[in-house]
Amino acid sequence: MISYGRQSIDQEDINAVVETLKSDLLTTGPKVDEFERRVADYVGVNHGVAVNSGTAALHAAMFALGIGPGDEVIVPPITFAATANCVLYMGARPVFADVDPDTLLINPSEVERRISSRTRAIIGVDYAGQPCDWDVLRRLADAHGLVLVDDACHALGAEYKGLKVGALADMTVFSFHPVKHITTGEGGMVVTNAPDSAQRMALFRSHGITREQALFADFDPRPSDRRPPAFYYEQIDLGYNYRITDIQCALGISQLGRLEVFLARRREIAKRYDETFAGMAGVRPLAMHDGNLHAYHLYVVRVDAQRRDELFNGLRERGIGVNVHYIPVHLHPYYRKVLGTAPGQCPVAEAAYKEIISLPIFPDLTEEEQDRVVQALKSILPMEKS
Ligand SMILES: *Cc1c(COP(=O)(O)O)cnc(C)c1O
Repeated sequence: MISYGRQSIDQEDINAVVETLKSDLLTTGPKVDEFERRVADYVGVNHGVAVNSGTAALHAAMFALGIGPGDEVIVPPITFAATANCVLYMGARPVFADVDPDTLLINPSEVERRISSRTRAIIGVDYAGQPCDWDVLRRLADAHGLVLVDDACHALGAEYKGLKVGALADMTVFSFHPVKHITTGEGGMVVTNAPDSAQRMALFRSHGITREQALFADFDPRPSDRRPPAFYYEQIDLGYNYRITDIQCALGISQLGRLEVFLARRREIAKRYDETFAGMAGVRPLAMHDGNLHAYHLYVVRVDAQRRDELFNGLRERGIGVNVHYIPVHLHPYYRKVLGTAPGQCPVAEAAYKEIISLPIFPDLTEEEQDRVVQALKSILPMEKS
């Protein structure tokens, strides 16, 4: 089976992990700090806080922003459930704003329609690896006093008008799951220029416990040379154990060194698909906005809704591990039960969902394998342009 996405692990990656296994610290050691610094430097922001999944990173971002009961956060429906779940974790309400019909990115005019007196933040998702329209989202956020969060789990290495994803929103979330651009097995990170948010997220990932004297609530620092005993720490908030290990971060650092090669290969594969489908009437790739440099986590095409499931099943039968990204989140039974969401609320996303299919794209996909994908697709949908 050729899957839609998978990791690329080389001997250097393996060596980096083995080296850390032989070191003193398996978790919360120098590799975590180094990985955070390197990712933050790569995207051009001041702080990175690494955690054990992209979902934990989204949760940490919502916590740092103080999202809570009574608040609303605007999210797109075409995304992984975690984008909206993180709002529910905080007791707040995700509000779904429909997507653009050509790119399936959150539609800023739909966002504007959903802004209320309770809205606190907007989470944009750089779906498939293409950045949202961040300038327009920024104008909306500024006009209404909202915070911008970028769920960039698809988009490490993407650019918008010459700026790297990571430097576009107030907080940006990455995932290092094996199907994403670089992997730590499981893992995630929030990058931000806000030092107070970074500090809150660092607390949140480790029980809300601190050993930093400057943060202590219950330690009297007078006289000024008084120091707490070495064992002393304080829990000053309620956090979780969302820590990532040094073993994982050693892999992450090594993978980050390969990111440009990964991105170049993904873009090459996408270009080959684009050229093939330009000659096929029945297969339409998603539109690309000018000024965007795509990171191609996914390569999504749209086909006739009547034939999508036939194509999906036919490709799976032929050993092509296609997928559908995503079932609109507001249609899931849990959301319908707790938020009362229903079909018809995001008609563009609901229509697109019936037409989309994600084809294999990952750095180690060979041209022969890609040709197999295209041949299989043509054998099921023989619709050459006349
Ligand atoms: C992968 C992903 C997540 C969650 O990341 P995990 O590391 O799997 O927890 C969140 N949002 C989007 C859009 C994703 O693709």
